Amino acid sequence: MMDLNQLTAHELLNKLKAKEISPESISESLYARIHKVDPKIKAYVRNKGQQEAPLKSQPNGLLKDVPITIKDNICTEGLSTECCSKILEGFHPPYDATVISKLKNSGAQIFSLKANMDEFAFGSSTENSYFGATANPWNLGHVPGGSSGGSAAAVAADEAIWALGSDTGGSIRQPASFCGVVGLKPTYGRVSRFGLIAFASSLDQIGPITKDVEDAAILAGIISGYDPKDSTSINKDVPDYTKSLNGDIKGLKIGIPKEYFVQGMDPEVKSIIEEAINKLKSLGADSKQVSLPHTEYAVPVYYIIATAEASSNLARFDGVQYGYRAKSDNLIDMYKQTRAEGFGEEAKRRILLGTFALSHGYYDAYYLRALKVRTLIKQDFDRVFGDFDCIVTPTCPTAAFKIGEKTQDPLKMYLSDIYTISVNLAGIPAISIPCGFTKAGLPIGLQIMAKPFDEEMLFRVAHAFEQSTDWHKVKPKL
Ligand code: GLN
Repeated sequence: MMDLNQLTAHELLNKLKAKEISPESISESLYARIHKVDPKIKAYVRNKGQQEAPLKSQPNGLLKDVPITIKDNICTEGLSTECCSKILEGFHPPYDATVISKLKNSGAQIFSLKANMDEFAFGSSTENSYFGATANPWNLGHVPGGSSGGSAAAVAADEAIWALGSDTGGSIRQPASFCGVVGLKPTYGRVSRFGLIAFASSLDQIGPITKDVEDAAILAGIISGYDPKDSTSINKDVPDYTKSLNGDIKGLKIGIPKEYFVQGMDPEVKSIIEEAINKLKSLGADSKQVSLPHTEYAVPVYYIIATAEASSNLARFDGVQYGYRAKSDNLIDMYKQTRAEGFGEEAKRRILLGTFALSHGYYDAYYLRALKVRTLIKQDFDRVFGDFDCIVTPTCPTAAFKIGEKTQDPLKMYLSDIYTISVNLAGIPAISIPCGFTKAGLPIGLQIMAKPFDEEMLFRVAHAFEQSTDWHKVKPKL
């Protein structure tokens, strides 16, 4: 018999409906697991503001009494939300992000401990957290990926039923891939960003990190939809995503971009992905090589646009309105000292880079040019989606790397996002699902991309693959 913390949300919902279990028994089993494994994994943030709390009674709804873990950059009323940064120390938002209100309205329990992350979501390894790094449940010497590493590690280690992360350049899909779980980055505008502490506003999306595709479809259905509080949210009906879980992918046209299978890719990853593509073919899909010729520009374009937007979004943290304030007897020094003491190294690096890219005399050469290339990247996808239903690639060029392996070389770290970033630049949806393990026992993720607002396609293909494999059922030994 499996412990409750090991189950998926849809399994728990069935048991709750049948009155086989009580809501208290779910949180007891989660806390027992957390006490046992989290001292090693550190998926949850533990500081003064974050405490284990009893369940609150929630309204009746689709997710009644199922607990959900939230990344530390999504505002939760009365619960500490610090973006894993010293500069937001002690910040308890007076309001809920729209995704949190939607979850509460559906009866879900917002877990009172928040998930660890790279400070302000800047990173690919969760090593940039003010609270210290999270470890990968499959091998504690390796990173869980980032920036939603806490969310992904908690789900993989059964310390969470499911979780929300945010994805600006891969921060849901890459940790999902490294931890062997499912991660969805929805279409830009599909999920409200109201209450998500902004990193790069034209790229950020909130999305699910789950143990299987069905849970991802359920959760995406709950959090999606138009929100007048987010001017970039799109007014478009939200389909019932669980209807796409019909397993039928016969005759689907899958594009395999040749630019994703070049140097830098681990040969082991390559053969696992090729096997996964063969599996999809054996289920009736057709695959053909396609070209996304501007792929090589994705990383530089992203690191100009994302840092430019970040430098502007982070200007609000000055010691006056939120969180940490340095002691000083004059205002200007207080601003300077607060920012000097409150931001970590990577945040400072990005503020400098972004401010430079936006500055007079360099704006045209960097920021404006990056915007133009972003359009070319988007057009590559438009062209391919004219003829194909979806695109399949690896989520990452390698399995999870070692803790400390890339911290001294930011460029190397940035390159680990090479397969996830274009999706954010183009605004399209993509999902990462488990598709195998390396010989060393680390999980590998398969990425599926679709047209804007065609999340249904992702769920359809992902579910068909998942149902014909067992990768999602394998659990780390802890
Ligand atoms: N790893 C990428 C970065 O460092 C993406 C982060 C994210 O998606 N939040 O910017």
